[in-house]
Amino acid sequence: MAYQINERCTACGDCLPLCPAHAIIAALPVYRIDPLACIECVGFTDESQCTEACPEQAVEPAGGWPERSAAARLQQPPVACQ
Ligand code: SF4
Ligand code: SF4
Repeated sequence: MAYQINERCTACGDCLPLCPAHAIIAALPVYRIDPLACIECVGFTDESQCTEACPEQAVEPAGGWPERSAAARLQQPPVACQ
C-alpha cells in the first residue's frame, strides 16, 4: 500500500523534505507521490512522515496498490524526485 496526495493539497511543500524515499514529487496544482517509490516509511519511522506533516490531511492510502512485505520494501532502492 503506497500513499497518495489528494486535491486538498495546497502545494505547501512541508512533506517534501521528510520523505526518506524521495517519493514525493513537487507538482502543481497538487504534489504527487510515486507509488512505486513510496516505502510507507518502513524502516525509518513508525508513522508515514508525509501524513504526519500535512496540515491539510491531503495524504491518504492509495487504493489499488497491494501491501508489500517489509522485506521487499526495504530492498527497494530510493527513487529520486523528478
Ligand atoms: S509514506 Fe513515507 S515513503 Fe511514502 S511518500 Fe510518504 S513520506 Fe515518502
Ligand atoms: S504537506 Fe500536504 S498540503 Fe503540503 S505539499 Fe505535502 S501533501 Fe500538499
